[in-house]
Amino acid sequence: MAHVNEDYLKLPGSYLFSEIARRVTQFKIENPQADIIKLGIGDVTRPLPQAVVEAMKGAVEEMGRQETFRGYGPEQGYDFLIKKIIENDFLPRGVELALDEVFVSDGAKTDTGNFQELFAQDNILAVSDPVYPVYVDSNVMAGRTGPVNQNKQFDKIVYLPCTEENGMKPPLPQTRVDMIYLCFPNNPTGMTLSKEELKKWVDYAKENRSIILFDAAYEAFIREEGVPHSIFEIEGAREVAVEFRSFSKTAGFTGTRCAYTIVPKEVKAYDAKGKAYSLNPLWLRRQTTKFNGVSYPVQVGAAAVFSPEGQKQIKEIINYYMENARIIREGLKNAGYQVFGGINAPYIWLKTPGNMGSWEFFDKLMKEANVIGTPGAGFGAGGEGYFRLTAFGTRENTEKAIERIRTKL
Ligand SMILES: *Cc1c(COP(=O)(O)O)cnc(C)c1O
Repeated sequence: MAHVNEDYLKLPGSYLFSEIARRVTQFKIENPQADIIKLGIGDVTRPLPQAVVEAMKGAVEEMGRQETFRGYGPEQGYDFLIKKIIENDFLPRGVELALDEVFVSDGAKTDTGNFQELFAQDNILAVSDPVYPVYVDSNVMAGRTGPVNQNKQFDKIVYLPCTEENGMKPPLPQTRVDMIYLCFPNNPTGMTLSKEELKKWVDYAKENRSIILFDAAYEAFIREEGVPHSIFEIEGAREVAVEFRSFSKTAGFTGTRCAYTIVPKEVKAYDAKGKAYSLNPLWLRRQTTKFNGVSYPVQVGAAAVFSPEGQKQIKEIINYYMENARIIREGLKNAGYQVFGGINAPYIWLKTPGNMGSWEFFDKLMKEANVIGTPGAGFGAGGEGYFRLTAFGTRENTEKAIERIRTKL
């Protein structure tokens, strides 16, 4: 008899975005004429930059000719892409990395979900609340979180509440933790940490020999000076942090798939006797065993993001989304809403009016303004009473949505 992995049975039943889709479908059946605007799912709408498209076409042609055909590439990515990543994303910020500290992959979701495999099952993990669900769910699947309790939280996870009072910045844990997931700029709150604030986490990790799993998928959206783009800008982080990055939101790669993870050689975890093991060779071992690399045309396309035209084109796309963010943020503020984020991130996190439940606000917004957002409760108990709107829509829809919220709610 095949036994099921019972840890999977602990996962919350309906995935957030399927529940949203279900409600939208039902509403459409009842209101076929409604002009629905979706500012819910965190997916981009602008097409790939032209520099990327041209580069990918060339690479596909190469794959179709005998002389230039390529089969399997290196599992951890081609050097031509890794060099560009280091030269463009890290060296200008004073961060030096070796080629073999960068691992190219098909997604930051993949990597943030898989990285926990390197840790023992009895590690305690900390996540901010609200949180990007992948960090929690992947650890549930691995059996690291214990049973779920009445608050729909897992007994062995340390939740770090991000509240109005603490400005949506997670407090240091009260009890010792081993693995710390941080995401800045944050999805869903859109908030960032300063260098000083991030330094506290690096110091905590050094003192406790914990590891920070830092998700920087939105670093390209940072506008303000002084906000760290990489955790490796913080002194000492090379000993305690791993960083996840992605071309998805930065360059419109959500449907194309390319990301990368930085694993410095100094980052170590310990065996039962206290002997230290570098995570870098373990991640290489994991990737070379379970992954055969990102396709050549996609890596060529990703490398083109760093060409002068590519850089100019992605800046235009990011500016477009960040202008949407400004329109949402200011429009909501003027309409009397309390809002967070939207300055260094494409997400606006708003407090629901009159302490309304976040699903209740979802239904109200859908019915009265025909605008779809994401209920905060979908990101954890701490998201109840909040709501997320994304800046990834078109300009026209963004303006229309805010106008409707202003006049119809
Ligand atoms: C969108 C997103 C990612 C990127 O995932 P990909 O798999 O690279 O598309 C990673 N982390 C967070 C928090 C995200 O919102």
